[in-house]
Order: sequence, then C-alpha cells, then structure tokens
Amino acid sequence: MTDAAPELSIVVPVYNEAANVDALVARLRPVLDAATASWEMVFIDDGSRDDTLARIRSLNAADPRLRAVAFSRNFGKEIAIAAGLDHARGQATVIMDADLQHPPEMIATFVQKWREGYAMVYGQRTDRRADGPVRRWFTRLFYRLFDAFGETPLPEGAGDFRLLDRRAVDALRQMGERARFSKGLYAWIGFPSIGVPFEVAERVHGVSKFNARKLFRFAFDGITSFSTLPLKLWTYVGACVSAFSLITAIWILVQTMMSGVDVPGYASLIVSVTFLAGVQLISLGVIGEYIGRIFAEVKRRPLYIVGDQVGFEEPQALATPTRPVGVDRRRA
Ligand code: UDP
Ligand code: MG
Repeated sequence: MTDAAPELSIVVPVYNEAANVDALVARLRPVLDAATASWEMVFIDDGSRDDTLARIRSLNAADPRLRAVAFSRNFGKEIAIAAGLDHARGQATVIMDADLQHPPEMIATFVQKWREGYAMVYGQRTDRRADGPVRRWFTRLFYRLFDAFGETPLPEGAGDFRLLDRRAVDALRQMGERARFSKGLYAWIGFPSIGVPFEVAERVHGVSKFNARKLFRFAFDGITSFSTLPLKLWTYVGACVSAFSLITAIWILVQTMMSGVDVPGYASLIVSVTFLAGVQLISLGVIGEYIGRIFAEVKRRPLYIVGDQVGFEEPQALATPTRPVGVDRRRA
C-alpha cells in the first residue's frame, strides 16, 4: 500500500465471521462514503477456521481499501484490537464488531463529535437486552467490583465500539501489556471523551464467541490488570484474623485460670483450622494469579503473530517489530 493515509480507518476483529463480513461491508460503505473523503477498513482475522479470509480477499480484489491481517491462530479479541490499531493509518480509527451488533450508522455521529474536537467518542449501550439475564447479572457484578477495586473508573456501558483519534491510538499502542483489558486502557489514557448512546442490535449470523469461561477469564484479567487491591486485601484479612485469635487467646487464658483446664472444644478447633487453611489457600491463589501474570509479561513474547495478510505489502523475510509487542511486518 503506497497510497496516502486515509482520514478514517475502521478496525474490525473477525473470528469465524464469513457469514457477516459481506453484510457488514455493504452497510458500512454508504455510511463511510458520506462521513469522510477517504477511508480504509482493516480486518483482523483472529485465526478463523471458516472462509472469513477468503471472503475478505474477494472484497479486497474489488476494493483495495478493504484489507486484512490474519493471525497465525486465535489470539482473542483484545489482541486483535491491538493489532488493528497497529495497522490502521487513519487520522481517526473506529473499532467495531463484525456481527452488526454495532450499528454502522452511528459512525456518522462519531465522526461529527471527533470533528468537534473529542479525541475519543464511544458508543454507550443503553440496554443489554441482547445479552441474556445471567450474563447481564455477571456484567453488573463485574462493574461493581471494578468500581470498588479498580483505580481507573470505567464509564457506564462503554465498550469497544468507539472512535479514537490518532493521539489516542498512539497512546494505546504504547501499552505493552499482554493481558489486555481494552475498556480499562481506553479509560486510563484520558483525553477529552464523550459517549453516544446506542442500542445493541441482535447478532445477525452465528452466536457469540464468548462463552462463560472466556468471559470469567476476561473479567479476572480486567480486575487484576487495573488493581492490586485483591493482593493487598489479605493483609487486612490477616490482621483481622490475628486480632480475633488474640482476643480468643486472652479469653481462653482467663477461663483456664478461673475454672481450670477444659478439654472439650474439638468442634471449634476443627472449624478454625479448616477455615484458616481455606483463607490461606485463597490468598495464595490470588498471589499465584498475579505471579502468573508477571511471568506472562516478563517473557516478552510478541503480542501476536501475523500468518497472512491481504492488501498489505508482501511480508518481509525478517520482521523487526517497532515495539516489543506484536510482530508488525508492515512497519518493519
Ligand atoms: N472476536 C475475535 N476473537 C475472538 C472472539 C471474538 O476477534 O476470540 C470478534 C468477533 O468476530 C466479533 C467481535 O470480536 O467481531 C465480538 O464478538 P462476539 O460478537 O462473539 O461477542 P459479544 O457480542 O457476545 O460480546
Ligand atoms: Mg457480538
């Protein structure tokens, strides 16, 4: 690609979305043509096993503004977003899902707000009806925990559907962490931001790629990458337990002096021993989680491996990443 950088880039992470890409492009095209003079679409194929990439290839043959970077395997949506930001060249970049849950028509408003001077314009979900009651309940719990633990407040209902100014994109690209919780990173970088309410549509084809296990992992990543409170909490728990045992010790001592040795107490003994063993294992587990994350970070592996690309120059033999994360062959 030797053409000039476009004004607007659209970044779409795709994972087995062959059924959705054509419909997405068809709906996006008129919106983009109306919103800006020059645009590009960058798909990040997150190791799809269907013919998502083949679909994008034929779209690219008809319109070279549609391009793709394909990972060598599934790395997860958060990492796909990071790769999208690495490859987007626009003055502003919009991140959106491929399944048309994020209405493309909103982009006109995003661009308008950006022209007014906001560095970040995010879609704000007005309701989560598309999600199902159990997921909704856990989402609420997560936000409450994040609020209580996190050092970075998250705006209500703000997700990945958003426009980022070049300054914001460059700030995010400096974040080298592997456990990426984008929602937190967006909030952390600051900049004048504004929310635009929107209603999440139903997924057009297929089902959500996030099962309960993935969502829990994601929630845990979110809290542990933005708070050390779960680690510090055990100091306070330990102090309370110690204070309680000190009081018990005094009470037993006084009782023994008043009425001699009293052997029964088996039940209370077993209960306190097992309870404390449980508390200790939990706290060790929390420490282990953090150590695991430290381990993942210090290995300094690239954030993702590009397996194929569509519409970018031929990959060069030796890739020298511009930053330690992500093997970014285009800029090498
Ligand atoms: N996605 C991805 N990698 C994954 C899972 C999902 O790139 O491992 C993409 C997916 O193709 C879609 C977006 O992330 O474009 C949102 O995924 P999904 O609709 O499954 O999530 P939900 O809407 O349920 O949050
Ligand atoms: Mg979806």
